[in-house]
Amino acid sequence: MKAKDIMRYLALINEADKEYYTEQRNWFLIYQDAVTSDFTIEVIKAKRVNDTTITASLRQHYLYGPEKADRTVAYEERFIKISNGWKDADLDFSVQETLHFVVKYQVEVETKAIEVCEEAEKAYASVVKELGLEPQDKTTLKLYADQEILRQSTDIRVAYLFNGWAEDGESIKMYARRERAAIAPLIAHELTHKITLGISDSLNSWLAEGLAVHFGNRSFRGGNALQMGWFTVEELSRPVTWLEENTLIQMTDEKTIGLYNSVSAMVVEFIVKTHGRDRVKALLTELSKYPRYDRGYDYGKMEQENQKRLHQAIKTVLGVNMDTFNRQWLKWISSQKG
Ligand SMILES: [Zn+2]
Repeated sequence: MKAKDIMRYLALINEADKEYYTEQRNWFLIYQDAVTSDFTIEVIKAKRVNDTTITASLRQHYLYGPEKADRTVAYEERFIKISNGWKDADLDFSVQETLHFVVKYQVEVETKAIEVCEEAEKAYASVVKELGLEPQDKTTLKLYADQEILRQSTDIRVAYLFNGWAEDGESIKMYARRERAAIAPLIAHELTHKITLGISDSLNSWLAEGLAVHFGNRSFRGGNALQMGWFTVEELSRPVTWLEENTLIQMTDEKTIGLYNSVSAMVVEFIVKTHGRDRVKALLTELSKYPRYDRGYDYGKMEQENQKRLHQAIKTVLGVNMDTFNRQWLKWISSQKG
């Protein structure tokens, strides 16, 4: 860890679990770039379950960023013995399966896992209907009992503690201790990310979030941000450049994060209402012509490049340049009623 040596790190990971291996590779790439100090992992206790399985209580500690935020977490990890030695095989998850999902959960949130199994199928039905697309395989959901462990298992750069996360090639990860009504919208949001990223990983932040909110959350809320009275037309009347100049993961203020997601979703709704849902799919297909990155999201270069790709795709698919697109969007939003 101290040498930030990815090959030596990945040699310790169970590569038979492709999703977990991808998650750990992406995690380490982020960790390599991050400013951290004082990294330690302490084994509190270890238990030999059988000849090929050990579970261990670990306490992981490091300080994050120049302000040295304390990122200490304690968790139960599983290690398995395969032909080339002992490997880290993720948290010591229990597993339940439904028709479209594999639900992996920390044992302390078992009662929530049962709710999640039911809510996940509701989310699935809604997304397939709204988006008109479905995932290729069963989707893995990982449930975390603690938001810091969730952040620790995904993108450690994010300034705020979040409830869900999905990256291309990874499982959908979620914080488990939430009220039942919040579960299906969250899964619908993350499932939309998973399906759309499966088509193309050239999605910039506002397009990705806009798709996930519009096709994922909206039907569970009963309306868009304007109809729900969360924001006024004036507040939502932001040019596309506002979305592209702000970096979502650096935001910490709830209201700004909400506005960013709402404006993004309204722009997607604008495309659906004025050009048709099939044009949204055509945009994704157009973006899928670029080779895949197949790595964790980088909000610097990759975001810039994906914005350019989207501008080009809008021109090709919708037949307008960004100035016109932006003018039409602003005109459309100003004509909407709450
Ligand atoms: Zn999202």
